[in-house]
Amino acid sequence: LNPLFAGLGTTIFTVMSALAVEHQAINLGQGFPDEDGPLDVREEAARVLIEGPNQYPPMMGLPALRQAVADHDRRFYGLDYDWSREVLVTSGATEALGAALIALLSPGDEVVLFEPLYDSYLPIIRQAGAVPRLVRLQPPDWSIPLDGLAAAFNARTRLVLFNTPMNPTGKVFSPAELTAIADLARAHDAYVLCDEVYEHLVFSGHAHVPIATLPGMRERTVRIGSAGKTFSLTGWKVGYLSGPAAMIGVIAKVHQFLTFTTPPNLQAGVALGLRKGGDYFAGLAAALEAKRDRLTAGLRAVGYATLPVAGSYFVTADIRGTGPALPDDDYCQWLTRHVGVAAVPVSAFYGGEAAPRHLIRFCFCKRDEILDAAIARLAQGL
Ligand code: PMP
Ligand code: GLN
Repeated sequence: LNPLFAGLGTTIFTVMSALAVEHQAINLGQGFPDEDGPLDVREEAARVLIEGPNQYPPMMGLPALRQAVADHDRRFYGLDYDWSREVLVTSGATEALGAALIALLSPGDEVVLFEPLYDSYLPIIRQAGAVPRLVRLQPPDWSIPLDGLAAAFNARTRLVLFNTPMNPTGKVFSPAELTAIADLARAHDAYVLCDEVYEHLVFSGHAHVPIATLPGMRERTVRIGSAGKTFSLTGWKVGYLSGPAAMIGVIAKVHQFLTFTTPPNLQAGVALGLRKGGDYFAGLAAALEAKRDRLTAGLRAVGYATLPVAGSYFVTADIRGTGPALPDDDYCQWLTRHVGVAAVPVSAFYGGEAAPRHLIRFCFCKRDEILDAAIARLAQGL
């Protein structure tokens, strides 16, 4: 057995969702909406499921979906990708990340990442024999220590991997931060892999800027999107990458041996979804922003300090002084068992030593009555 994986635990999302079910807790842990996304997207997938074709789609993805991704990238960001060579469809952003990391990294390469980070990054980087260089963002605003960032780069740096809008912090990287990353990547001739699955979940006063739009970055950057987040269909596992043909071509070589392809009816539904009008995308963000405000106000009313959230599904709360004095993971266990609300400890998103133990993540992409019920339980149980 591969000791790298045999030694790993089960993901915190699975652990907390199972605990929520066991204790009939309201699950604000694992990030998934409790209302399915657009009916027309689901109807299109249902139509193709019944009418077909249901055989292997092309390895790189249905042309209709790859064209829709390229058009989406042009419409929202002015990025120009050739759909036939520069867009790849995968089974979720998770596969996109895995395939890209395996394709871009060789043993001994270094990868610059920001902590906290999404849980799938480090195991795949390590399996590739590459070495993570973690740069820790500073709460409460999750700013980048610019000296630390520069110090993380050297002649072995092959890749920068980061996530904006960011899980679990809700941070949206600013143009100045993107410029700092881009300058270092160019100076060290490094690739950039940007996990942009929450690209359309950005709130008032903030904008998502793909780093690929910065000067000299298109040729070294691959961006990743996910229909799970953009259409509130997390179980579908349809992801997509856009980037220069040379990078996408090698990532496709890995993809062909991981999954080869992704169910055709789901791809057809997502192709329809990506062609929706601007009102759909604006409405999604506005609805989530209202939920962010609702849950944040409730968390504050029961005594938590909450950290600013510019995008994503998540708000983090400072647990110090509210409820029992426990480290974040024990606190989340206690909250689920005794208060009936599940959350996720932010320390689960750290790979290095001495993670902060005073922050927990709540997911707000839930119906208003569910958010209100969670706050009522917290008001009573804390
Ligand atoms: N990256 C981040 C930052 C995420 O939060 C998620 C969410 N689950 C993923 C990747 C994986 O997305 P998918 O479900 O499309 O595999
Ligand atoms: N991205 C989701 C979260 O952060 C979980 C995805 C998963 O369970 N693998 O909650």
